Amino acid sequence: MNDNNDFREEKDEQEEVVTSSEKKEHTKKDDDDGYESYCYLCRRPESKVGKLIYMPNDIKICQGCMQKTFDSFAGNGMQFMDLSNMPNLNMNQFMPVDDIPKRQKVKRKKEKKDTQEMPEMTLSSIPAPHEMKAKLDEYVIGQEHAKKVISVAVYNHYKRVLTDSMDDIEIEKSNMLMVGPTGSGKTYLVKTIARILNVPLAITDATTLTEAGYIGDDVESVLSKLLAAADNDVEKAERGIVFIDEIDKIAKKRNTNSRDVSGEAVQQGLLKILEGADVEVPVGAGSKNAMVPLETINTRNILFICGGAFPDIEDIIKSRLNKQASIGFKADLKDKYDKDKNILQKVTVEDLREFGMIPEFLGRLPILYSLESLNEDMLVQILKEPKNAILKQYQKLLALDGVDLRFDDSAYRAIAKRAMDKKTGARALRAIIEEFMLDIMYQIPRDDTIGRVTITGDYIEGTGGPLLEMRGVLALEEDDN
Ligand code: ADP
Repeated sequence: MNDNNDFREEKDEQEEVVTSSEKKEHTKKDDDDGYESYCYLCRRPESKVGKLIYMPNDIKICQGCMQKTFDSFAGNGMQFMDLSNMPNLNMNQFMPVDDIPKRQKVKRKKEKKDTQEMPEMTLSSIPAPHEMKAKLDEYVIGQEHAKKVISVAVYNHYKRVLTDSMDDIEIEKSNMLMVGPTGSGKTYLVKTIARILNVPLAITDATTLTEAGYIGDDVESVLSKLLAAADNDVEKAERGIVFIDEIDKIAKKRNTNSRDVSGEAVQQGLLKILEGADVEVPVGAGSKNAMVPLETINTRNILFICGGAFPDIEDIIKSRLNKQASIGFKADLKDKYDKDKNILQKVTVEDLREFGMIPEFLGRLPILYSLESLNEDMLVQILKEPKNAILKQYQKLLALDGVDLRFDDSAYRAIAKRAMDKKTGARALRAIIEEFMLDIMYQIPRDDTIGRVTITGDYIEGTGGPLLEMRGVLALEEDDN
C-alpha cells in the first residue's frame, strides 16, 4: 500500500517534469546572462551533466540527481546518506545564480557560426584577370608569368562554367600543367587562387594513386577529397579546383617489363575525369567498396591543375634546343643553353612526352607554364612582404606580450642564404626560422623588462646574440620624441 502511494507520487512528479527543449522560453533569461544553467542539487553545469530537467519555480535538476532522488524514495523512505553522496551537494539548495561563487559558474561557450556561406558566384563577381593577379601579388612573390597565366585561365574557366556554353561556340576547358622546382610556390599559388575565388579545393598527391584494383588510391579518390572539401555538396564540388601534385611521379616507367600500375595506368585513369564525365565517387573514403555510399559527380566544370618538379627535364629541354641550334644557318654555340638559368621556361609538350607523360594526358592539360626557381632576393622578399609572412606572424605573437620584434637587413640576408643552401626553395625558410625563434619565444616572455628584440645576421649564423632593449629605456626615448 505504502509502496503504491510512493509510486503514484513518483508519477505525479514525473508529469511535472518537462525537458529543456520544451522550455526554450524558460531558458531565455539564462541565455542572456552568458552563464550556463546548472543543477540545483549537485551544482554542476549543463555542459557536464547533460540536459537539465526543469521543475516548477525555476528549479533545474540533472538526470543523475533526479535518479538518486527517486532511488532514495523507492527504498525505505528518504535516504539522506544517498543524497550526501552527490558531488558538491549544497544543502542550501536553491541559492540564486548570483550567489554562486564566480569560479563555480561556467561561461556558456559561444556557438560556432556556420562556416561562411559562399556567396553565389556570378559573372560580375569573378575578379577580372588583372584584379586576380593584384590579389595574388599580395601573397605570392615573383612568378609574374605564372600569376598572369593562372589569372587568365581561371577567369576564362569560370566564365565558361557560369555561361555554360556560348551559343554554338563551346569554350574548351582550361586545365593546367605547372612545371616548377620544389618550394617555388606551386601549391601556394593554387591555394591562394582558391581562397580568392572562394571555391572548394582538393590537393592530392599523384604518388598515392594506382590503377583500380591495386593497393593505393583509385583516381576517383581525388574527387572524394573535393567532395569532402565542399562539405559533401555535389553542386559546390562540381565547381571546385583539384590540384594534383607530384604529377611527374606518374610518368611512364622506362625499361620495365612489369605492368606499370602507378605510372602510365594512372595517367590513363585520369584521362576520363580530366575531360569531363560522370564519375561515381565514394563518399568519405579512398576506394569503392560495398559499404561506402556513392555520389555521382560530373567533372565537366571542375578545374584540374597538375603540378610537378619534373627533375632533370632541363637536360631534355637543353638537348632539344641544342639540336635545333646546331642545324642549318642558325647554327649556334653548342653549349649556349648550358648556363641558362631559366631553361625551365622553355618547356614544351614534346619535352614532357620525352619525360614519360602520354600524349592523351598532355592533350587534356592545354595550359602549360613553368615557375622560376627562387633566388636569394626573392627569398628575402618572401620573408618581408607577403600579407601572412612567417616573420610577421612571430611579430604578432610577441606583440601580444608587449614585445616589439624586429629583424635587421643582415638577418633577412642570412636566413635567405641558409635557405638557398638547402635547395628546397621557400620551403627551407620555415625550418630555419623555427630553429632560431625557438629560443626567442622561450626566453623573452620570461623577462618582462624586455621591450624590443632585434634579430641580427650574427645571431642567425650563430656568432652573436639578438639585441635586447629594455622597456624602461624605450619609454624614455618615446617621451623624448
Ligand atoms: P611547391 O612548389 O613545392 O608546391 P609550396 O607552394 O608548397 O611549394 O611552397 C612552400 C611554402 O613556401 C608555401 O607555403 C609558401 O609559404 C612559401 N612560398 C613558396 N613560394 C612562394 C612565393 N613565390 N611567394 C611567397 N611564398 C612562397
